[in-house]
Amino acid sequence: RSAESGHQLFEFYSEEMYRNMRRLAELECDLFKAVENKEWEVYYQPKVSVDEHRIVGVEALIRWNRNGEAVSPDLFIPLAEKLGLIGHIGQAVMDKAFGFLRLSSMKDRVPIVLSVNLSPYQLMEPDFTQSVIRLTEKHGVNPRRIMFEITESAYMHHFDKAQNAIRQLKELGYTFSLDDFGVGYSSFQYLSRLDFTELKLDKSFVQSLAHNRKNRVIIRSIIGLAKQLGIAIVVEGVETKEQWKTLKTLNCHSYQGYYFSKPLSAEEWINLLAGKFILDTKTLIKI
Ligand code: C2E
Ligand code: MG
Ligand code: MG
Ligand code: MG
Repeated sequence: RSAESGHQLFEFYSEEMYRNMRRLAELECDLFKAVENKEWEVYYQPKVSVDEHRIVGVEALIRWNRNGEAVSPDLFIPLAEKLGLIGHIGQAVMDKAFGFLRLSSMKDRVPIVLSVNLSPYQLMEPDFTQSVIRLTEKHGVNPRRIMFEITESAYMHHFDKAQNAIRQLKELGYTFSLDDFGVGYSSFQYLSRLDFTELKLDKSFVQSLAHNRKNRVIIRSIIGLAKQLGIAIVVEGVETKEQWKTLKTLNCHSYQGYYFSKPLSAEEWINLLAGKFILDTKTLIKI
């Protein structure tokens, strides 16, 4: 390899690096603006029972429309954590989602549980518990109808601080769910050290069922484990009838996924409850 081609290689990378860094800086700048202008929307995805697709809960999922283009929360949430913006964003999501809970529980006879995703950084903020209480009172909702989903992976380093907030909120009636179970590390540690009401099995398990038969055994044993621990289990990412059928044979209680419904806008959700909405799945399940 000549010195010249080495030089070209360097220039090639540095230009690409420059472009990437610039793109990242622009994204960060827009994220600040989005916080100022509260550019968020919240969508709602039902959690349903496996046996008869009864809606048992709903998960709030943030949506950011950046100049007409949706940015994935998997991309901007970690960025917001890094920039110290996650507290503001989390507040805005809770404000909308608690308002939604209030509204939908007036339309629906059977009360459901609303889940909000939390970043572990939020749990570490000193006034987090207070702000949850304030927003709960503002919307006049029952803490027992509010669940917080925490992803295991990012969580371990901040265990002690977060644990206090969790304990306080649990005493007030809020419940906790362990999200994306099975793909992070030390999953079982969390189960034994914290008092979770629900466990969500990561979508990778159900989605690779067709070509990885071992996953059936894994799902079955995690369902068994959850039952023995008295924790409800939700399987994420169910997209096909075959996957749903498998869950049925495994006596799984509830699931979430495109097979039943994508995340819906608040308006679509109200229509769903009113029976006006035809679900956007190939299956057209009646509820
Ligand atoms: P998550 O909490 O594990 O949410 C599940 C994700 O899977 C959502 O992606 C949902 O739209 C998607 N999903 C649902 N059903 C299916 C399916 O059948 N197939 C497939 N392939 N995907 C499905 P989304 O909305 O893009 O959110 C990604 C992640 O971003 C969430 O993962 C959560 O960790 C985080 N997130 C979303 N909203 C918030 C929020 O308000 N606050 C915080 N801190 N994190 C959030
Ligand atoms: Mg979640
Ligand atoms: Mg999840
Ligand atoms: Mg996830």
